[in-house]
Amino acid sequence: MTAFPVWDDGTTAASPDHQLHWYDDRTVIIRQALHTNFEGPFSYLLIGSERALLLDTGTGDIDLRAVVDKLLAGREVELVVAHTHGHRDHVGGDGQFDTVVGKSAEEVAQYFGITGWPEQIVQFDLGDRVLDLIPIPGHHASDIAVYDRSTRLLLTGDSLYPGRLYVVDWPAFRASIARLTDFVAAGNPVELVLGAHIELTDQPGIDFAMGADRHPGEHALQLDPAVLTELADVLAAAGDTPQRIVRDDFIVFPLSAGGEPL
Ligand SMILES: [Zn+2]
Ligand SMILES: [Zn+2]
Repeated sequence: MTAFPVWDDGTTAASPDHQLHWYDDRTVIIRQALHTNFEGPFSYLLIGSERALLLDTGTGDIDLRAVVDKLLAGREVELVVAHTHGHRDHVGGDGQFDTVVGKSAEEVAQYFGITGWPEQIVQFDLGDRVLDLIPIPGHHASDIAVYDRSTRLLLTGDSLYPGRLYVVDWPAFRASIARLTDFVAAGNPVELVLGAHIELTDQPGIDFAMGADRHPGEHALQLDPAVLTELADVLAAAGDTPQRIVRDDFIVFPLSAGGEPL
């Protein structure tokens, strides 16, 4: 593992349209530049001996296909394109790829062989690299978390990252985060939690304005696994009533079914 970069803060329009970080020699973190879209989503490329998994295709404002093709050049692997969930800022580049796992929960479950959504955790083997896929609906109906046994990274999409955790289905979200902490406690230690956006500043609990495409002084992408426990604890304490909860490293942000803040 090499040190994480300082991510492009969006203040230079002439900056490249994406930024790469090789976490190790089989793991690439790709960030779409904020100046191409304020969402600035992160995608992950996990490479095994037989397959590579691209998790999320961003907003579609950059040529992600060219980026991925270059990263995989010279490797004899099949590319599987799937998503942390089906929101448009994570599936926007799907059309650039030949085959993509569908974005509904039903399609995700069918492709990966999940017959007991969302309780069932399944494995997906990239070849000498086993991933555990954990359904975690609540932000969106098709959310999954991906645990990589080799790096002990836990990829959490929009369900846990340094920003506003928009919760549409409160009971499902609480159950999902509890499922995730149970999975970790059952002997799956986590090195770092990596989500799909950064919306917090480097000041505890202080976020950038919604839609901000400049992030001077961003929070780091990576979260300590204790933050997952913290999220589970505050959700357990909150009970059945959706409520906004501001913590140093995340903000729980309930939405109505129509997408309005509660
Ligand atoms: Zn989302
Ligand atoms: Zn998102």
